[in-house]
Parts: sequence; C-alpha cells; structure tokens
Amino acid sequence: MTDLKSILLPGIDPAAPLIIAGPCSAETREQVMDTARGLCDMGVKVFRAGIWKPRTKPGCFEGVGEEGLQWLGMVKAETGMYTATEVANRHHVEAAVGAGVDLLWIGARTTANPFAVQEIADTLAEVGDPSMPLLVKNPVNQDIELWIGALQRLYNAGFHRLGAIHRGFTAQGTHLYRNMPDWHIPIELHLRYPQLPIICDPSHIGGRRELVQSISQQALDMGFNGLMIESHVSPEEAWSDSRQQITPGELGRMMESLIVRGTSGPGDGLELLRRQIDEIDRELLEILSRRMQVSHEIGRYKREHRIPVVQSDRFNDVLRSRVAAGEEMGLNPGFLKTVLLAIHEESVGRQIDIQEDGAR
Ligand code: PEP
Ligand code: MN
Repeated sequence: MTDLKSILLPGIDPAAPLIIAGPCSAETREQVMDTARGLCDMGVKVFRAGIWKPRTKPGCFEGVGEEGLQWLGMVKAETGMYTATEVANRHHVEAAVGAGVDLLWIGARTTANPFAVQEIADTLAEVGDPSMPLLVKNPVNQDIELWIGALQRLYNAGFHRLGAIHRGFTAQGTHLYRNMPDWHIPIELHLRYPQLPIICDPSHIGGRRELVQSISQQALDMGFNGLMIESHVSPEEAWSDSRQQITPGELGRMMESLIVRGTSGPGDGLELLRRQIDEIDRELLEILSRRMQVSHEIGRYKREHRIPVVQSDRFNDVLRSRVAAGEEMGLNPGFLKTVLLAIHEESVGRQIDIQEDGAR
C-alpha cells in the first residue's frame, strides 16, 4: 500500500523510530510554545497538538480551533519541527492545509466513520498536496477492515505516504489499560501490508503516564516504526488527557532509556506468536488479580455477617459450570479442575486470613 519510509519527512533518521510528541490539545500560545521548545531540546522532530478535540460528551473542552493553527506555525518557524494535527472533517482539512501543517492524522472515532473519512479524502484531493504524510489511527472498535478501508480511501484519493497508528481499542469494564492494545490486530495489519509503517500511541493505550514507557518498549520490541506520545509542560494542568501526558524532560529521559531493536515492522513467525502470548499472559494476570480483589470483598462480607469461608455447594457449582464452559472452548477438563482448584485454594486462604484478622 505504501513504502516503509514513506511517511518520513526530510531530515528524519530512517534508522531510528519516528517520534511524534506534543500535547493532547493546544491550549494557549504559551503552553504550545513552551512544550515545543522543551521537546525540540529533547531532539523531537515532529510536534503534535490537537486543535479540534473529539470529546465523548458535550460541555468538555473541544479544542481551541483555528487560532491554534497559528501557534503550530510559530512552532515550526521557531524550532524547525514539523507539525501534526488531527482532522475530522472538510473544514479541519481546509484550515490545516491552509495553515501549512506538515502531517495530518485521522483520529480513532473518525476512522470508525467511513463517511467522515471519505469527506477528508475528497477534501485532501481538492486542497492537499499528495506528498503530504497522513496517519490513520485504528478505529475505536476491533475492526481491521475499517482501519484498512480508511487507509484505502486516502490512497485512492492520491495520497500514498500513509502510516497507521495503533492506539488501542475501547475497553469494557476496569482494565489495566484505557484502550486495550490487542496487539494481534496491528500485527495482522503488518502481515497484510508489510510496507505500511505502524506507529504506536502508548499514551492513549495506557491512559496513565506510568504506563507510557513500558508500552513504548513493548511496541519497539515488536518492531513498530515509531511512537506518538502526548507531552505537556505541566501535565497535571492539561485541559484534556492530563493523566497520560508526560513532560518534555520525562519524554527525553524515556527516549534515552528505550531499547531500539530495529524498526522493520512487527517481526514475523515465532516472535509475533510470543508477543501474543506475552500479551495474553498479562491479561490473565490482570484478571486473576481482579478476581482476588472481588474474593477479598466477599471475605470481608462473610466476616461481617459471620458466614463460614468455605461453602462447598457454591464451589461445586462453580467448578461444574466452569469446567462445562471451558470444555466448550476446547479446554481439557482435568487441566481446568487443576487450575480452578488452585485459584479456589488461594481465595480461601486469603478469606481465612481476613477472618483471623477480624478475630484478633
Ligand atoms: C488524540 O490523539 O489526542 C486523540 C484524540 O486520540 P484518539 O483518536 O486515539 O482517541
Ligand atoms: Mn489525547
């Protein structure tokens, strides 16, 4: 679909991962300029800032709008960094292209809407320069065809310098991540389009600044071609996504400590399968930890209501129903019993500790 180096702009090292960094949103001229200066000092070459923000509910900060495009122009003039912003409709494309923004991306909510993507593609064909690099975030839902479809709409409009951004998928319930990475989907995209550069957005996957480094490392280990990271001069005061932004200084330190093994795209064969296992094991651990937390709550309830810890009828029901459900999924009943008994034993042990604590 496109060439691996196609999204790289002149002056960017093709051997290193492409780092795109900047605030979730442009807020004020000072915030944009201070963040840009900090990032430029850290060696960042492409500056991102959201000008129009797609918010889940009305009434939130929806971006500064066109005024912010002038600030991007100032960033470019003062620091020499390339600039990037998100576009979601005709007006955004016209304004961003008119203001000389170097790189545009389509956000996750927009990728999920083919009408919007087509409108963007049509507008780009009218007002854009086909050499402009364009990045497409994965749609919010796990639909690889929708992701590819958006890239194809841009390709068909004459824009061939394309790349994909993996920013995770909407997660239900409480998870470690804000948006579940489901790495097998970008890996599948890579297997289908080996030339298409794929960038990881650890900020929107993790949703918390503490996770940005480890997710970035995971992405680099899989051979992703770059990272898009949210960075703000004072993250705690950010008007959007404050929990996941890091300061330019933190970003600089992170870039120094990340280990780059190569940016040839997510690896192949055994390596890819092992990455999937790593990811699944991480989810398993998270689920086990959540289960133990609920079991702990049950232990406290039992203590308060003087209910004995072990309820054999309940456990037999649990065992029977889980073994039956697992068998339907192709799991061996003997193996399932061993696993469930081990989990149960740990839960009971913890609940007994709670009872004893209460008795002391
Ligand atoms: C963003 O990059 O700030 C953004 C809105 O991201 P996403 O489209 O991934 O939600
Ligand atoms: Mn954001």
